[in-house]
Amino acid sequence: MPSPLDTSVTSVDTPVVIVGAGPVGMVLALDLASKGVRSTLIEQAATQRTYPSGSTHNARTMEHYRRLGLSEALRQVGMPRDYSTDITYLTHFNGHELHRLAMPTEEESAAQVAAHSVTDQVPEPLLRQNQIYIEKLVFEHMLKTEEVTTRVETEFLGFEEHEDHVSVRVRPVAGGPEEGAEPGPEEVITCRFLAGCDGGRSLVRRQLGLQYAGEKADAGFLTGERNSFYLRIKNFNSLIREPSWQYWMVRPGKVATLITLDGEDEFRLTVIQGKTETEDDLRELIDDFFGAHVEVEFIESQGWVSGFALVAEHYRKGRVTLSGDAAHLFTPIGGFGMNTGVDDAVNLAWKLAASLQGWAGPHLLDSYEPERQPAARYNSRAALALGRNLNFNLQITELLDEDSPAGVEARKEAAVLMEGQRAGYASIGVQLGTRYDDSPVIWPDGTPAPERQYETYVPSARPGGRAPHVWMSRTQSLFDVLGPGFTLLRLGGAAPAGEALVDAAARRGIPLTVVDVPMPEARELYGADLALIRPDQHVAWRGDELPDADELLTRVTGGASA
Ligand SMILES: Cc1cc2nc3c(=O)[nH]c(=O)nc-3n(C[C@H](O)[C@H](O)[C@H](O)COP(=O)(O)OP(=O)(O)OC[C@H]3O[C@@H](n4cnc5c(N)ncnc54)[C@H](O)[C@@H]3O)c2cc1C
Repeated sequence: MPSPLDTSVTSVDTPVVIVGAGPVGMVLALDLASKGVRSTLIEQAATQRTYPSGSTHNARTMEHYRRLGLSEALRQVGMPRDYSTDITYLTHFNGHELHRLAMPTEEESAAQVAAHSVTDQVPEPLLRQNQIYIEKLVFEHMLKTEEVTTRVETEFLGFEEHEDHVSVRVRPVAGGPEEGAEPGPEEVITCRFLAGCDGGRSLVRRQLGLQYAGEKADAGFLTGERNSFYLRIKNFNSLIREPSWQYWMVRPGKVATLITLDGEDEFRLTVIQGKTETEDDLRELIDDFFGAHVEVEFIESQGWVSGFALVAEHYRKGRVTLSGDAAHLFTPIGGFGMNTGVDDAVNLAWKLAASLQGWAGPHLLDSYEPERQPAARYNSRAALALGRNLNFNLQITELLDEDSPAGVEARKEAAVLMEGQRAGYASIGVQLGTRYDDSPVIWPDGTPAPERQYETYVPSARPGGRAPHVWMSRTQSLFDVLGPGFTLLRLGGAAPAGEALVDAAARRGIPLTVVDVPMPEARELYGADLALIRPDQHVAWRGDELPDADELLTRVTGGASA
């Protein structure tokens, strides 16, 4: 296999071709742009997503969007900021509320963030807004980003890897104004790197000859093939007692979830039990959940399969990489799939930038797979484990809706089981806890790795984990002052200057920013006077004194073999 860092003799059309303008491809393009790297994004569709997939943009993804200057704008789209993000379990809308998992509204989360203390860990709380709204805004932003050339209605057909570049074959998709129009002529785009962000049926992955491996397993109630429906319910807010973001409707033989999209009349319905063969079946089911006839307009439907915990056997071959659903397929419980993909893109972006800008060691790109593949395995298993909680172990009987002592008892039992689902909606340990402890580009400090749990996150500056967060001022996060490359944090007000590292980085062309974090709480949190933070905000090294600066930089930029 040719080294991806071979000196280039062939000139190329663009440094990076990205296939797929889903959330992962777009974040990769924007993150590369933030580092001054141009890319060409190939997308076969004409428009952005028209079907509402997921709504959970987790705390880590929002930190990435913050760095890209988008988090504030993204918090303004979709459901109104004061709309409930609760999850409720109901027999039907006029029947009994079995349980409510109360969650903060956007406004309440913002107030919590505003009232922070120095070491509050979450500068960007999880955002519940659907991918259709979020991606539209990200896409519009990308179109205005000079470094990104976006080509929609263009199909990726295949690639050929050469010693110092990749040739990518594309063509305009078939169709156009004339019925039966032929696809346009093929074109070849040359690039240094090709990034496959082309979703679950990834042609890039298939052309690499790579398979998914893992489980197609029991994911609780949601196991198997599902159909979801994008629909409009007229006057919804006047038909219900108290709004929620998600409603679980639980009736004998009929179980479904209804997800609020715009806070008005748009929803995604997923039927878990119940007849859905015809539109009339669906209308009957919906009427049953409302206990009255409601007017429904069906916009679109989509089939999907739940129960996957599949991860590609490799994430990269030579100059070609995989990220997002192209590299892993999850069950949607917990909302980890896209979020894990966005984290892939952020991990990859700086490594590609370093390779293109000449400051990567020969093994930096090799670290992409050993860092991201275990993260996908952990997160996909977390989704399965949390999904298994969805087996309420509950006999759903008419008792749940009965006004009798037995009915009261049945509802109490149901509520306990439903409370057990909380982790699926509030898994901060999965969101922020990804670690690269065994990575060849991390400098370990000999301390034990913190234990991971789904529901709790304990910040740790042990190299490998997300840099523990601190507030620099009332509104400025530590993450706002980190540089686009590496950042040396001098913590606690009495840290060594670290000149040797600054000099060595300058000599080697490695972008390094120095940030003073004088607060004693920050020094305590980091457990060291100095910490070296990577461009993706993970700790590369920490200590009270620098080791040999060249040795350190060689290691964290992939200059040393694993
Ligand atoms: C019901 C449901 C709920 C979900 N909820 C959540 C959630 O709450 N949180 C979460 O994190 N995840 C969730 N997910 C998963 C999430 O939707 C996906 O993980 C995410 O969309 C994957 O992003 P991606 O960019 O990798 O791929 P995609 O979004 O699939 O984008 C791939 C893009 O590549 C394009 N493409 C493919 N082939 C070609 C080609 N040959 N040429 C040109 N373009 C091509 C496609 O048109 C597409 O635009 C959910 C999924 C489902 C089904």
